[in-house]
Amino acid sequence: MTRELPCDLCGRSEFRLLAEQDRRKAALATVICQCCGLVAHGRIPTDAELADYYRRQYRFDYHGEYIPSPHRVVREWNRGRELLQLLRPFVSASDQLVEIGCGIGCTVSQFQRAGFLASGVEPGDGFRRFAVEKLGIAVQGGVLADLPRRPMADMIMLVHVLEHLRSPSEALAHIRALLCRGGRCYIEVPNAGAPHAAPGKMFHFAHIYNFTQDTLSMLAAKANFTVRRWLSSPRDKNLRVVLQCGSAADWSIVPGSYSRALQAVSGTNRLRYFLRWTYLQQRLRTLVGHRCDRVLAARRVDKILQGSPLGSTDKLSLLPPTPRVAWRKS
Ligand SMILES: [Zn+2]
Repeated sequence: MTRELPCDLCGRSEFRLLAEQDRRKAALATVICQCCGLVAHGRIPTDAELADYYRRQYRFDYHGEYIPSPHRVVREWNRGRELLQLLRPFVSASDQLVEIGCGIGCTVSQFQRAGFLASGVEPGDGFRRFAVEKLGIAVQGGVLADLPRRPMADMIMLVHVLEHLRSPSEALAHIRALLCRGGRCYIEVPNAGAPHAAPGKMFHFAHIYNFTQDTLSMLAAKANFTVRRWLSSPRDKNLRVVLQCGSAADWSIVPGSYSRALQAVSGTNRLRYFLRWTYLQQRLRTLVGHRCDRVLAARRVDKILQGSPLGSTDKLSLLPPTPRVAWRKS
């Protein structure tokens, strides 16, 4: 089949249809490029459609809340602490760090409290307000495309962001232009090649692209990045990689990338997905962690906010109540 836009990675236009529904059984065509193996929507949303969706609807659709709950704050806080430890070997004290799509700002706050110069960019009004007013960090509104293309950072972080953008190639080229000499970029995305990724649970509107280690590697090379270090294995739930600004070089299709991606996204079934021991272990840990977080969340959030540069002792109860809707994991 063909598509209105060519493949964002290789520029070819031969696609194979993978699915016609998203994980909620709503209509959503997903295709794979038969040249490079990049998996994407059958129709790429326009900039205007995406801008409107993220400004008004995304946090509500996929996180079930517009204002963060105590449980979310604690979970993001823990995730930010983990990222700080993970990325410490790749940053120095004088580095300027920027997180694109920083959400409620917990990762930026963790780096700031550890002594780094860190700031964020976030399009969602409710979450940006929390980051600025409660955590006291610098967060600019808007999206990556709004940033002037001049060097402004030594390390740029995109944590579960790249898969939401309509052109990862363009986004990585933009990030390359924002980085100072010797700059680095940390990318974390869901891993479409993981055995945990069952096709029926994988696709939804917000994730325009589904990456494998092959396709993410090629996108990085195309934007003149070299891989400093993979922090994940090709079968982990998420792909995590630190990229380094490299010199302009030709890139080429990784041999076998299409067949590996096709096998990865269509070679799993629900039985394998649910029976995988590692998956069950992870789910158990996550569920226990979430239960503990919910019980202790309010008390922990008070401590987090008391440590903010604002010295705030405001409680989350001062925020408008969060609408009660089913929470879904992004
Ligand atoms: Zn392609």
